[in-house]
Amino acid sequence: MKHVIANWKMHLTIRESLALGRAVMLAGKGKSVFPNVVLCPSFPALADVHKLISKSRVRLGAQDVFWQDTGAFTGEVSPRQLKDAGCTHVIIGHSERRSILGVTDEMVNKKLLSALGAGLIPIVCVGESKSDRAAGKAKAVVERQINAALQTVKLKPRDLILFAYEPVWAIGTGVAATPADAVDMHAHIRVVAASLLNGSKAKQLALLYGGSVDEKNAYAFLREGEVDGVLVGGASVKWRSFEGILKAVMEVTE
Ligand code: PEP
Repeated sequence: MKHVIANWKMHLTIRESLALGRAVMLAGKGKSVFPNVVLCPSFPALADVHKLISKSRVRLGAQDVFWQDTGAFTGEVSPRQLKDAGCTHVIIGHSERRSILGVTDEMVNKKLLSALGAGLIPIVCVGESKSDRAAGKAKAVVERQINAALQTVKLKPRDLILFAYEPVWAIGTGVAATPADAVDMHAHIRVVAASLLNGSKAKQLALLYGGSVDEKNAYAFLREGEVDGVLVGGASVKWRSFEGILKAVMEVTE
């Protein structure tokens, strides 16, 4: 089953989050085929959205996590607290947090280890900048990010990691990568990650594309076998667009 991650960023109030969550649940009602949809609201809306979706197939994710379980870390939210709020997933290393909030490769590694330790499914974001790509360094940059993220990571048999390939130049710009670019990078990520996660099974790794996915281009990404799903930002808070993406994934899956 393909994955669809809705990253609502800092766009919605609690009431707006609930309205959108309701629409997503309704779209899945009675469908025999429905993707693994994960809604990622802002922290204040997590518990309410969890109450709303808890009896449905829709899952809840957070947009970030700290690496300690408890303590004097003002402003941070721990894996334990995310589990308590009903999260099953967490986004780690989003490019906005890397570039605006100073999240480093090493911090991504700590967050990943602590998320896995708490039984959360991490969605680890990687991707090159425009200048990296122009300089022919896209694969090297992504490889460095994966290498750092997976240091000392050992998957238990039931663990799962989602990697989201999100070229920075494609996020929120309306200029998506091509499906061919995504397939090429995903194949690279699969090889690099599999060699670091020695002994884990292929099905413990899923690769998503993110960066200006919308209702018009989603099908072209999702029909590729190398693309296990999409991470959607801007289009996930516009119901008509998100509904179109859900339709595209159901078309591909049927
Ligand atoms: C994102 O937030 O990760 C993202 C891909 O945003 P957008 O879909 O708006 O490019």
